[in-house]
Amino acid sequence: HNPANSNFIRNIIKEDLESGKRNHVITRFPPEPNGYLHIGHAKSIVINFDLADEFNGKTNLRFDDTNPLKEDVEYVNSIKEDVKWLGYDWDGLFFASDYFEEMYNRAVLLIKKGKAYVDDLSADEIRAYRGTLKEPGKDSPYRERSVEENLDLFERMRKGEFGSGEKVLRAKIDMKSPNINLRDPVIYRISHATHHNTGDKWCIYPMYAFAHPIEDAIEDVTHSICTVEFEDQRPLYNWVVAETEMAGTPQQIEFGRLNITNAVMSKRKLRKLVEEGIVDGWDDPRMPTISGLRRKGYTPEAIRAFVRETGVSKGSGFVDSQMLDHFVREDLKLKSPRTMGVVRPLKVVITNYPEGQVEMLDAENNPENPEMGTRQIPFSREIYIEQEDFMEDPPKKYFRLFPGNEVRLKHAYFIKCEDFVKDEDGNVVEIHCTYDPETKSGTGFTGRKVKGTLHWVEASQAVPAEFRLFEPLLLDEEPESEVEAEVANVAGTEEESMEVIEKSFLDQVNPNSMKVLNGFVEENMKDVAPQEKFQFFRHGYFNVDPKHTTADKLVFNEIVSLKSSFKL
Ligand code: ATP
Ligand code: MG
Ligand code: MG
Repeated sequence: HNPANSNFIRNIIKEDLESGKRNHVITRFPPEPNGYLHIGHAKSIVINFDLADEFNGKTNLRFDDTNPLKEDVEYVNSIKEDVKWLGYDWDGLFFASDYFEEMYNRAVLLIKKGKAYVDDLSADEIRAYRGTLKEPGKDSPYRERSVEENLDLFERMRKGEFGSGEKVLRAKIDMKSPNINLRDPVIYRISHATHHNTGDKWCIYPMYAFAHPIEDAIEDVTHSICTVEFEDQRPLYNWVVAETEMAGTPQQIEFGRLNITNAVMSKRKLRKLVEEGIVDGWDDPRMPTISGLRRKGYTPEAIRAFVRETGVSKGSGFVDSQMLDHFVREDLKLKSPRTMGVVRPLKVVITNYPEGQVEMLDAENNPENPEMGTRQIPFSREIYIEQEDFMEDPPKKYFRLFPGNEVRLKHAYFIKCEDFVKDEDGNVVEIHCTYDPETKSGTGFTGRKVKGTLHWVEASQAVPAEFRLFEPLLLDEEPESEVEAEVANVAGTEEESMEVIEKSFLDQVNPNSMKVLNGFVEENMKDVAPQEKFQFFRHGYFNVDPKHTTADKLVFNEIVSLKSSFKL
């Protein structure tokens, strides 16, 4: 299907411009710097930047850094790197924390208008007073404090006269509203914590629901695109914009979150995987983070194409991870050179090949893209093949090597299995073959046919390499609902609900998510650079790992296998 037809936000923007409601478009990508970006964020990035691009607008990168406890410059830097790597250039680079003074002034304005009050209730009491979907909320005993008293208390909150959590500032809206978000939401809290940007300047911090609309309005954002779990907060968003008398008129529009099968997509859970040592960092190739996908070998082109194909709608279902794999195969098909690598080596001695002789053979680099030219690969009396390409006693339709059978070696000759050697434990450790010089690849030999073609690596010049093969990190295809988790987050009970979720999700970790194999690659691979991508003949696409590859050790991460039953 054509994603151009399935983006309802595009239609809203188009109408806004055509009707004259808007004469320009500004979007923003507003990550909280409390972790690394994941592929769900890539969806938000692509939507925001693509829409602005289409309508000659602008997109800001804005760090939504209003919570000092979890945020860090390490995350700020990784987020910038990832957005750039995905292929996007932001117009403005902003920090919500740079607006703290303005937010404070707007809160004072609310107090002066009788639209906000300082509350002494504890967090538990506030939750109990809030009521439920069926039950209206109850007014706090502090709700009717005078404007003067509220101004005084709020100023003293700022000055640090009270301890963390001792008082909050609440918007005065309606404790009986059917929308719980409008039951006097907390808009400022006290937290004596050092902030990564403002240091110890502040000990009161605005809540997301108050801060975000002000951030958007300050930047003159026109279309403030967020995920569906914020739909119920839209009336509050509009209330804040109107009551704080901001000049900007941002409109919040929600779309469905992206979830991918066998993956979790919340920074909190991803952090858990890092902290528990289940993965070797946020950029572990098994992580659905942008940095993990990059290290595994995915390309920005593939990620963008995948995200665009998923379209933009209100629904947030799980998308099959094979769809992402499809796009990376499509992208790498013509770009990446073919080569040969043996992941579980088995020595083959070609008994009728002259000892000490090495000849160089021509090999094309990409049959689907002849412009990539050819390379020379050595061939001699001893080579490695895959262990699984030999069977002593094969079943029917096994066309690889077995005693008496002849196969083709890619780019080389036909070889025939004459004998094999076993060790004390009965494992086959060496195969003895003969080759037929007449059958040399490229000479047009048509004398007879063989059914199997094997990859191989010449033994004396083979370069040792480590191959890392991956399975999904989580066993469960659809790990518990991200939306549920996020709703809990919004309702302010995140700590408790997340603990439960964290426990259950760790049970789903796949103990076989990474397999490390030691084999060999072609001699001409010895100088490959980190992040170079290759198609290993008969195996799949691999990326040179940027973290573990050293001058003496090559490490290849499997990106995707060659084939899949997946159809778009
Ligand atoms: P997480 O739960 O992973 O921490 P978040 O929504 O809290 O995600 P933010 O840093 O606030 O993370 O997200 C920045 C932007 O990315 C927001 O606009 C958010 O809605 C969007 N976003 C986050 N996760 C997804 C997702 N899975 N699909 C689409 N957009 C997402
Ligand atoms: Mg968030
Ligand atoms: Mg979050």
